[in-house]
Amino acid sequence: MAHPQPFRPDPSGPVAIEATDPPPPGLLVVDLDALARNFRRVRDAASPAECAAVVKADAYGLGLAPVAARLWLEGCKRFFVATVDEGRELRRLLPDAVIYVLEGAPAGAEAALHASHLVPVLNSLEQIACWTGAGGGKAVLHVDTGMSRLGLTEREVETLAAQPGLLAGIDVDHVLTHLACADVPSHELNATQLYLFERLRRKLPAAPTSIGASAGIFLDPEHRGDLVRAGIGLYGGNPFADRACPVEPVVTLRARIVQVRDVCAAGTVGYGATHAVQPPCRLAVCAVGYADGYPRAVGNRCAASFDGVRVPVVGRVSMDLTCIDVSAIPADAIRPGDYVDLIGGAVTLDEVAAAANTIGYEILTRLGSRLERRYIGEF
Ligand SMILES: *Cc1c(COP(=O)(O)O)cnc(C)c1O
Repeated sequence: MAHPQPFRPDPSGPVAIEATDPPPPGLLVVDLDALARNFRRVRDAASPAECAAVVKADAYGLGLAPVAARLWLEGCKRFFVATVDEGRELRRLLPDAVIYVLEGAPAGAEAALHASHLVPVLNSLEQIACWTGAGGGKAVLHVDTGMSRLGLTEREVETLAAQPGLLAGIDVDHVLTHLACADVPSHELNATQLYLFERLRRKLPAAPTSIGASAGIFLDPEHRGDLVRAGIGLYGGNPFADRACPVEPVVTLRARIVQVRDVCAAGTVGYGATHAVQPPCRLAVCAVGYADGYPRAVGNRCAASFDGVRVPVVGRVSMDLTCIDVSAIPADAIRPGDYVDLIGGAVTLDEVAAAANTIGYEILTRLGSRLERRYIGEF
């Protein structure tokens, strides 16, 4: 498979970047070896359940092709995507994988699903009828137990139980449900959903189950079922709201320093003049902004990392630029062309997400196309 040269940061320090022409303003470095270690971690935690990888939304923004190829090399055989189009793209990359499509079989998509050997996750009686009408075959049945999003309602399950002919054309691969609050293990809805799922799945044809996503994997076997669906845990985000992160970081977001300025006089930084400098101080102006998916909301609320040292983000984040107070870094140790880590080094993805009042999932999936993606490790 054609791919860019693996990128290895200079071990002498995370700010070293190999020479390219022109130097990229922003780099998204994806460590596929760390991804592989996280896959083994979640697979081992889930065992004896099998571990599928969720690679929707371009593998959470990290790049579908390298991520899927590497997971396949690590022995992952089953993949979940959100849409039929994502499934078609993944099929071109992995001819032999089992690919599940979470949006199921929307009317009109049956031929595309069949042509690419995709397995729809059927979410409603209409989808079951569509899939059956198009010849049927292998499918997952999704039972809603508390998300009120996709999935068969309790009533629809009763209908299927009363009219088993509705499922005659369907080879039920798994019965699936999705937990709303697994990120908060003590939440009472977890037990409620598991109880309801147990009750409803017995009314459907006997099949293996799929329950847990990344958080469920690290709870008990009840939260997993026979097939778990790991997303954020593979990509280094914390699946829990109130526990330490059980996986290692995969992504580094690096911003090139355009200018370093020593500030000797009082003044303010950026739009809205929201940060007053305390002279003497040193500012680094970095070439990544909210257009790249680095959230505007983190201005004055987050740190970046320079050579492993935490340095505060000051003023508002602009579209293409972010200012960092690097007074803690000696003048001769930092210059234009060096890179600051906005995510990575001493700053975690989840910390940036919290500063922006969101979750790691949203940060990763919004990282922009202007960032140059570089991959560490084989794929
Ligand atoms: C996105 C998604 C997952 C993956 O969840 P993570 O928390 O990222 O592991 C699993 N199942 C369903 C139905 C999803 O939509």
